[in-house]
Amino acid sequence: MPIIVIFLALLNAVIAVILAQIKMNLGFDVFSFYLFVFPIGSYLYGSIISKFFYNLLLKKEIPITKIYYFTTLFFIILSYFGMQYYIYYNTYVDYSMTINYIGDGIHISELYDKTTGNYINFFDYYFRLSSGGEMYGMIGGNGFATEINPLYNLILEIFNVLALGISVTFTYKKKKPPFKYCEKCNHYMNEKQVFIFDLGDNYSKYILEKIDESMGKEDRVDRLREIINVNQELRDSSNEFVVGNFNYCNECDQLYLVIIKYIIDERGNEKMGKIIKEYELDKSYFRLIIR
Ligand SMILES: [Zn+2]
Repeated sequence: MPIIVIFLALLNAVIAVILAQIKMNLGFDVFSFYLFVFPIGSYLYGSIISKFFYNLLLKKEIPITKIYYFTTLFFIILSYFGMQYYIYYNTYVDYSMTINYIGDGIHISELYDKTTGNYINFFDYYFRLSSGGEMYGMIGGNGFATEINPLYNLILEIFNVLALGISVTFTYKKKKPPFKYCEKCNHYMNEKQVFIFDLGDNYSKYILEKIDESMGKEDRVDRLREIINVNQELRDSSNEFVVGNFNYCNECDQLYLVIIKYIIDERGNEKMGKIIKEYELDKSYFRLIIR
């Protein structure tokens, strides 16, 4: 775990610096894109990074736990503020009172806020001035005079952070892996589809009940095998269907039957719904069932 977390932290830091450089040099700010009041820029930023990291966890066969969710959330929000601080750190005001990022003139922290009389620290710059405000400096008495609206700015920042949070939450909520993880051998289990049938009619209910019922019986392997034989490919035109998968570990012979609901959306894409049931089967049946 630690190495991949360090990687995530570095990844976020590098991207934050790159985005800050782009903003300072080209004036292009990813976080300034809004769809009405929804910060679409923040949302995309959070989505791309969290999806990338999530897929990496899957690829490296690391079980996706809440810890990774919170870690991703933490580093993405931290890097967002880190980027703002990086910009503040590089902000100078030259003798014509124009902001620059090349160290011309004096650093912004040497100017003061006209309203409070205090020197401009990161939070003043960020919340009070970054979208307008008034600051005065020691340079010949010249000063900035732009509209100040700290409340509006603060609300936008809250929206930005919320959008980052939503994007990470969606990534972790939506994309649950359809297969189980073997805690003992530290890898994802293999998967084998054993049945598929439409959901919704009485027959599907009957099969699901029959599976459930047979699990408690002595001869459950035979019963299960019979159900599988009959329902291997009973898929017609319903927008909802059920898939039964064996999840098994080749190393320790752990075996599960996982029954998952799938939905076909308006665009015709298959989407994984909830896991309907999950049964642990006896290890001794592993060789009998997996062929
Ligand atoms: Zn195992």
